[in-house]
Amino acid sequence: MKHFSNFNQLATLELAHIKDGRKLLPDDLSIIENASIVFDESTILWVGKTDDLPEMYSTAEITDFSDHCIVPEIVDSHTHAVFGGDRSSEYNLRLNGADYQEIARRGGGILSSMNSTRSLSADQLEQLAITRIERIRSFGVGTIEIKSGYGLDFESELKLSIVIDRLRVKFAPQVQIIRTFMAAHAIPPEFKNSEAYLTSVVIPLLIELARRKLIDQVDIFHEDGYFTSADVTLLAREAKKLSLPIKTHADEFNDNDGAALAASLNALSADHLLKISNKGIDALANSKTVGTLLPGTGLFLGKPQAPARELLDRGVKVALASDYNPGSCHFDNLLLLASIIAPQFKMNQAELWSAITLNSAHALGLTQQGALLPGLRPRFTIFKAPSLSSITYNWGKNMYAFQ
Ligand SMILES: [Zn+2]
Repeated sequence: MKHFSNFNQLATLELAHIKDGRKLLPDDLSIIENASIVFDESTILWVGKTDDLPEMYSTAEITDFSDHCIVPEIVDSHTHAVFGGDRSSEYNLRLNGADYQEIARRGGGILSSMNSTRSLSADQLEQLAITRIERIRSFGVGTIEIKSGYGLDFESELKLSIVIDRLRVKFAPQVQIIRTFMAAHAIPPEFKNSEAYLTSVVIPLLIELARRKLIDQVDIFHEDGYFTSADVTLLAREAKKLSLPIKTHADEFNDNDGAALAASLNALSADHLLKISNKGIDALANSKTVGTLLPGTGLFLGKPQAPARELLDRGVKVALASDYNPGSCHFDNLLLLASIIAPQFKMNQAELWSAITLNSAHALGLTQQGALLPGLRPRFTIFKAPSLSSITYNWGKNMYAFQ
């Protein structure tokens, strides 16, 4: 049993938790000043003011955290962190005025990541990813979701899922890695249409990976030119048979009722949502499906952002994630991203912190974390900082202290 004591501020997110992460007001952070937390290996036992510590916890091993703050663990619920190659030249071309077609003509785009990823061994991909995960962790992120999806054939996607599982084992329990199967990321050049790829590669591999218990959830790129609504429905049906939850990349380039479809399929989350319709917003607001926004992509590509304020005001459970990937968002610092985008999205502090802790945990089905309350798991992030507001105020200054 451990007792971490004397935090300047401890944000339990108790009210945010009660409100299921929706329509949050600043006080929903539920901050306790001069606070302590008592926990054992698996469970939070007590939180409160250090002066109010119950006698029964006085024997717990104590660590002093004066001048520190503690929040529920930061969760990055959307990354594509396992890939080969480097697309900096593509970024350069874009800055210098090249459009999407020209980049593709010069060998850029997802197919360049596919070729690099296919050419590397599992060991090589693992080594690259270890460095990336250590960096993400250095900013205070404790749970990281990682998608496969740059292999785009049976063998390469199998290799990626094995790598992600190896990373899960290697980093547990300090970093919790959630393994997402996303062979349905794009249609590889070997196939003419999405349905053929789905039925001959994606679904057979899904069944194999589920049998080997190598994946936690299933994702698909639901977009014109990628995968159709019928594909999403088919994949969701297969995932359901295997008791695996789904999530989707929805309404990014076009509104194709992606959010509404995700909600109707009980998806854990619908991600991107730049072009989400009114109907889509209503569907998310009335469902358990988290709306995950990935503003790093808009910043990286110089594109518009999702209608965040509208989603928040209408009761969608909104999460923020990095979308860390080699092409459209080579940006891995979620807390910095949230700090940068909050003024533009007009998010209050409770919305900001919930979006990267409580709501992003729920976007991965992790309902036993995301708030610092007795009975939940002791997953938290500690900063050497006088207050929560000083953390989001100091853009890019890494104040992460301990996990
Ligand atoms: Zn993505």
